[in-house]
Amino acid sequence: MQKRTGKTATVEVTENVPVGTSDEVLIAEQEGRMVQSAETVQSEDGPVITTHTRPGTLVLYKPTESHGYLPRTVSASALRQLLKQGWKQVCPDCNKRHINKDGIESTDPNLCDARDPVAVRVCRVCTKRIFDNRQFTYDGKMGGDDPNVIEDEAGSSTPEERTLASLHLHYWTWHPREAQMMKIPPLPAALQPAAPGETRQANERAI
Ligand SMILES: [Zn+2]
Ligand SMILES: [Zn+2]
Repeated sequence: MQKRTGKTATVEVTENVPVGTSDEVLIAEQEGRMVQSAETVQSEDGPVITTHTRPGTLVLYKPTESHGYLPRTVSASALRQLLKQGWKQVCPDCNKRHINKDGIESTDPNLCDARDPVAVRVCRVCTKRIFDNRQFTYDGKMGGDDPNVIEDEAGSSTPEERTLASLHLHYWTWHPREAQMMKIPPLPAALQPAAPGETRQANERAI
């Protein structure tokens, strides 16, 4: 009888011992963490402050097939799932977290010591930095050695063109009134319904 009790206890202790990996510690710290944020948006009557309660966010490093690991801001509630999918807490390319000049972990792609800096434009309305981080997966010849692949030039673009396209999309999505005032060219029809949630949200915020 005593022996069986002892055995049971041992099993319980074993099950309750923390795995001790840093991922588990991070999940314990972050999962379920809620934050309150206050946000100031411009309306026709002047600035309006709104507060939100939502899951906390943190920066994780997402594995990509061709561009190493890229920093992304993710919801703490998705942390367990993302770590399982191979996302990392520390950038495996430079073996560091990417900390900006204010001491905050940031998704600024130019903070990675292991990669070449990318071109950037800055939004005139909210000063968000729009990075040239939407390069296509492959550059150059698509066919490689395959003579049957017809090479086409339509997909090639420069950092100037890519960041300008991203900046225009940003203006129309988040600052439609300013986009109109700045005479930003209208978005192609294919892009207009691409982010209905964002567009609607941006309009609601502006009202
Ligand atoms: Zn890095
Ligand atoms: Zn902006």
